[in-house]
Amino acid sequence: MSREDLFLKARIDAIYSIAYPMIGMDLLGSAMMAGLFWQKGGGLWLTLWVAVSALVIGARGVVAAAYQSGRFSHIPPRRWAASLIGFSAASGVVWGAALGLIAATGTDNEVMFAVCVSLSGLTLSIVHVAYWPMYAAFELPVMIAATWGFLVGSRPGHWLLGAAAAVMTIVLLSTSRRLAGQVLQAHKLAAANQALVESLGERGKALEQACDALERVSRTDPLTGLANRRQRDSRLADEWERGLRSGGPLAVVAIDVDHFKRFNDAHGHSEGDRCLKAVAEMLQAGLRGPIDLAARHGGEEFMLILPGVDRAGAASIAERVRVMVATCSSDAGFALPEKVTISLGVAAIHPAPGRSVHELTIAADAALYRAKMAGRNRYELAAIDSVAAAA
Ligand code: GH3
Ligand code: MG
Ligand code: MG
Repeated sequence: MSREDLFLKARIDAIYSIAYPMIGMDLLGSAMMAGLFWQKGGGLWLTLWVAVSALVIGARGVVAAAYQSGRFSHIPPRRWAASLIGFSAASGVVWGAALGLIAATGTDNEVMFAVCVSLSGLTLSIVHVAYWPMYAAFELPVMIAATWGFLVGSRPGHWLLGAAAAVMTIVLLSTSRRLAGQVLQAHKLAAANQALVESLGERGKALEQACDALERVSRTDPLTGLANRRQRDSRLADEWERGLRSGGPLAVVAIDVDHFKRFNDAHGHSEGDRCLKAVAEMLQAGLRGPIDLAARHGGEEFMLILPGVDRAGAASIAERVRVMVATCSSDAGFALPEKVTISLGVAAIHPAPGRSVHELTIAADAALYRAKMAGRNRYELAAIDSVAAAA
């Protein structure tokens, strides 16, 4: 559905939402007219008028019920709009016929009564300015017929009455047109506002997602998908603070791939990359869960952060991943060209005031260096006091 059609549909919806009260008022006015003139003798014309009036009101009711049932939503809004104009015009002709005839031939009382009822109808139908052609289709026949009735009648001052009705026709038409323009503008503004709110909401969501993605990228090593140095440092700082509060231990394992330069030289840089990914995968698999963190903070250098783990616990995790890398790297799953080993330095500490997280990482690096010196493919424990000496 085009924007224009959607907009038209919104206005038709607004009109049909008050269709039943409007039909009810039409019915009431017709009944009052019929009741008054029936008392005076009725006649063929009145019977005909009542019949046509009932037909138009009935048909309006049926179409309104059909619209509101939603079963005919495939019919385009323009068709519904045309039917609204059609019914309005038919109703205008029915009322215009009665008013014109009474204005031309009725007594003063009858004219007064018919004018009052018709003016009530015109006043009520101003709600149809949501779709102005509908209002005009009712107003024009009623007012033209009234003008004609006064002009051809013979009551005193009938020229003046006719002229007044003609002026009123034009004034009603132009003021209702202006009012319709303002209503339309308000509708358009509301629709534009709604669209703006929706697009802002969508953009906000997209921006949030982009920020999340950016945040993830800024914390992640692109080659292995592990945490990068930045995330490692911030996690170390967090865990240090947590350890200070809880008094629990904090362990790290510094890891370096053995003879990796030789591996690269022998098999090429891209095989080297594949090897780093395989090592990263095995380190991740060796962790206990989301509390632990595996990070790649340099070329072929990794670190495990193990909160709440003491030296013995960290040593057993280190040994587990060492064995895993040494045995699994020659597995068909990784299909690496040769066996790969790692060396590890294990350090644990109880965070305490006066000590720092650097002490821990430096100790782990020193232990790693000793593991290298001692022949690689092994772990060494750091020479660091896990518990702070009493001050
Ligand atoms: P050691 O056992 O003493 O650690 O010896 P090593 O050869 O592993 O150590 P060294 O520091 O001499 O060499 C590290 C190599 O890692 C050198 C560099 O080419 C390689 N490297 C660093 N980053 C990457 C990377 O992202 N991809 C690849 N393929 N190689 C890398
Ligand atoms: Mg290195
Ligand atoms: Mg190395």
